Amino acid sequence: MRRPIVAGNWKMNGLSASIAELDLMIKGYAPALAARVDLLVCPPFTLIEEFAAAASGSKVLIGAQDCHPKASGAHTGDISAEMLKDCGARAVIVGHSERRADHGESDALVRAKAEAAHRAGLMAVICAGEALSDREAGKTLDIVGRQLKGSVPDGLTGDNTVIAYEPVWAIGTGKTPTVEDIAEVHGLIRRELSARFGEAAGQAVRILYGGSVKPENARTLLQARDVDGALVGGASLKAKDFLGIAESYL
Ligand code: PEP
Repeated sequence: MRRPIVAGNWKMNGLSASIAELDLMIKGYAPALAARVDLLVCPPFTLIEEFAAAASGSKVLIGAQDCHPKASGAHTGDISAEMLKDCGARAVIVGHSERRADHGESDALVRAKAEAAHRAGLMAVICAGEALSDREAGKTLDIVGRQLKGSVPDGLTGDNTVIAYEPVWAIGTGKTPTVEDIAEVHGLIRRELSARFGEAAGQAVRILYGGSVKPENARTLLQARDVDGALVGGASLKAKDFLGIAESYL
């Protein structure tokens, strides 16, 4: 009932020559695959317009990795959700743990960014996840529940929001939680969303798992209960790996 989505977060990687990799992704996103799973590529700001132009006419979606909460104004170096929409983005990741850590982003700021995404007509991919110390202290559900409450704005629907559960200790490390651990956290997220937004919206929202997803482990991780796809970092940079992950839905 929920259509899975595999989203690629290119982080601070990619120059104009990387369009060749996007072209391979577009070519490899065959009708049989497109019938089963959405594909979203989020390059750095500098490549969004070029990628969106290349992907137009295909079903590959292009997104961004961050936005400012305001639509315009005196915010040197920042990019608004409206600007992203204007250059062809369809979605924006907000609250990634690297931004929470590197830029001190709070839940309130992440919520404001998600509201900006909705205002601009972009799908917000809102990230949450515990640190290793939280998991070791048995606080995973508390932490993720608190981040969710603080970061998700009112007005959530299955179309305007995707939640990504990304344990910080699993990002870029090659470590992953067990399928049971993932299902436990995704179950909590779905219950919390249903309690706040109603059963229909809670059931409609896609919840992605992110953290060291590779073609080799995708089939196992993505079949966990309440997992509707993946947010992929490193393995999203190469078409072969990224498509390999999506192909676990074939
Ligand atoms: C990420 O940064 O969102 C991520 C999941 O990274 P990786 O797949 O490299 O662990």
